[in-house]
Amino acid sequence: MNVGFIGLGIMGKPMSLNVQKAGNTVYAYDYHMERAEELIAAGGVTCSSGKEVAERADVIITMLQNSPNVEGALFDEGGVAEGLSAGKAVIDMSSIAPLASRDFAERLEKLGVDFLDAPVSGGEPKAIDGTIAVMVGGKPEVFAKYEELLKTMSSTVTLVGGVGAGNITKLANQMIVAINIAAISEAYSLAKKAGVDPENVYQAIRSGLAGSTVMDQKSEKIFKGDFTPGFRIELHIKDLQNALDTSHGVNVSAPFTSLAMEVMQSLKVNGHAKDDHSGIAEWYEMVNNFKLQ
Ligand code: NAD
Repeated sequence: MNVGFIGLGIMGKPMSLNVQKAGNTVYAYDYHMERAEELIAAGGVTCSSGKEVAERADVIITMLQNSPNVEGALFDEGGVAEGLSAGKAVIDMSSIAPLASRDFAERLEKLGVDFLDAPVSGGEPKAIDGTIAVMVGGKPEVFAKYEELLKTMSSTVTLVGGVGAGNITKLANQMIVAINIAAISEAYSLAKKAGVDPENVYQAIRSGLAGSTVMDQKSEKIFKGDFTPGFRIELHIKDLQNALDTSHGVNVSAPFTSLAMEVMQSLKVNGHAKDDHSGIAEWYEMVNNFKLQ
């Protein structure tokens, strides 16, 4: 397949590489084209705009920060929509507001272009391994056409409903991850201040009921005090804002999500917006005046 890829950041770079290595040709564009170096070495092709990507590829994947970034890449001057023609498809793998996904799908449908929202979970290590989980919203026949392509980046690809359902699933995922990191950080703080090594606590409980992928991926970063991203706090704030807006829009109260949001806002105010979200542990260090390491 000729596959367009817009957004070669922490996630898009390894994901596009996996698409290329599976035998497709990737046509790529990012504001920072130096991020395409490995892709070019693997046979990928760089383009000078989203429009050019859409002209040369049959299906265009976007992997950008939030709804306004995706809207700009698709519909601004020189963007993807200008290069699209009927029969092509756009797959947005960014984590964005579900209502924005539905809006983009409607605007693209008028051009005869199919749309899937297909956000991912798993973070950079799984993007590199090709084992991210992909949650997809869209028409079943469009999903069937692109399922194999999505599997070149992923171990699990699940159709969860119509357009927007992928991002609703992702918001659910982000609520669970944020609250889980906070729970782990709070528990390790208790252990440390009570005189028990948090690493021993982790080893003792990781295979029990409290164990989780979040615990396995984030504990070491917390123990080392290594908060290089990974998944930046500023991006998780974006997801929790979308989660709270969407929850309130459907009359659901989300108190623990609100708490996790305020912890992250406090970290942002204190200069930690670009830290990995495991940096929630730093908030516990600040308010309790101690170090976990
Ligand atoms: P990132 O900021 O590292 O990458 C975004 C890239 O998009 C950048 O390289 C930027 O230059 C490019 N870009 C933005 N607008 C553009 C435009 N109009 N045209 C061309 N290029 C443009 O972000 P990321 O960490 O790769 O995350 C991407 C998405 O995936 C986000 O929605 C995030 O929430 C989600 N996500 C991230 C992770 C993670 O661990 N980093 C995990 C799961 C999901």
